[in-house]
Amino acid sequence: DRLKDSKVYMRALFDYIPLEDKATPCQEAGLPFKRGDILQVVTQDDHTWWQAKRVGDSNLRAGLIPSKQFQESADSYFIQPFVISGLRRSFRLSRKDRQGPSGEGSDPGDSDFLTYEEVTRYQQRPNERPRLVVLIGSLGARINELKQRVIAENTHRFAVAVPHTTRPKKSHEKEGVEYHFVTKQQFDADALNNKFIEHGEYKENQYGTSIEAIRSVQAKNKMCVVDVQPEALKRLRTAEFKPYVIFVKPRVPESRRRRSAATSPGGGEHGRITDEDLQEMRQSAIQIDQQYGHLVDRVLIKEDSASACAELRGILERLERESFWVPISWVR
Ligand code: 5GP
Repeated sequence: DRLKDSKVYMRALFDYIPLEDKATPCQEAGLPFKRGDILQVVTQDDHTWWQAKRVGDSNLRAGLIPSKQFQESADSYFIQPFVISGLRRSFRLSRKDRQGPSGEGSDPGDSDFLTYEEVTRYQQRPNERPRLVVLIGSLGARINELKQRVIAENTHRFAVAVPHTTRPKKSHEKEGVEYHFVTKQQFDADALNNKFIEHGEYKENQYGTSIEAIRSVQAKNKMCVVDVQPEALKRLRTAEFKPYVIFVKPRVPESRRRRSAATSPGGGEHGRITDEDLQEMRQSAIQIDQQYGHLVDRVLIKEDSASACAELRGILERLERESFWVPISWVR
């Protein structure tokens, strides 16, 4: 019965190392996994230990994994925090982090702990709205440039969401093409009404991308690509948009001394950067990974613009053809 064909799939939102788990009834029977792995849950009969297999594993035997309830309550089960430090604590996000501006919690953040998220295979059908592609990037990833390049190559299939701005229109610009040009008053009202997925100030002008701008791209049956601050993910992670989230990280060389070897293929993109800059880039990537890694579908390591573009193009093409894991709540 270990081979029973369960239809329950979970995306792991934490790393699990059975050999370090003092609570497991049998370390050898445990199934190790990493955050992001898809687990097929074979039985949920026991309410502390589930049996599961990792999707993609050739190993047919199921292993033990902590159940969702058990993992969630793990912290309070242990009286000796020293013994368990780092072992079976899943990520706990602060309340502030977990809730979107409007207060509706989105799926995996609903509980205090990030444990598992039930997922299912999803393939976009030809008559369906194309999925939203969301690029987030750590320091130095230059995701806007990447987005523009990939879209420019294929404007009949991909498009950006046209942002709003309060800055004056330049003579070569057209309303609704580069931007929607609005008054400060209008912009503030829209921001108050939660119309933007993100907005910010640049040189005393306001800029922001609206939910409507994304919808209008999708209404034209094009794949909308946005680059946003990771905080915007909470607003976008809905059944309507079915975002596919790509985290772009620049490849950061070890240290400046090895700079030429590590970055010259990129055409000197990292020219004249210091060790401190490199350290900041690493830190930025680590921080985004810790805070938002569980919402990321794909990590793209950017060596240089050209190869990153080619890789992104490949991902977008596969998105149209292949099936991907999405939260089950998106298709119900
Ligand atoms: P420009 O006025 O030259 O067209 O744009 C200047 C800057 O405004 C851009 O480099 C970018 O930093 C910022 N910007 C443009 N669109 C947006 C947007 O949708 N949201 C935010 N936060 N900033 C934007």
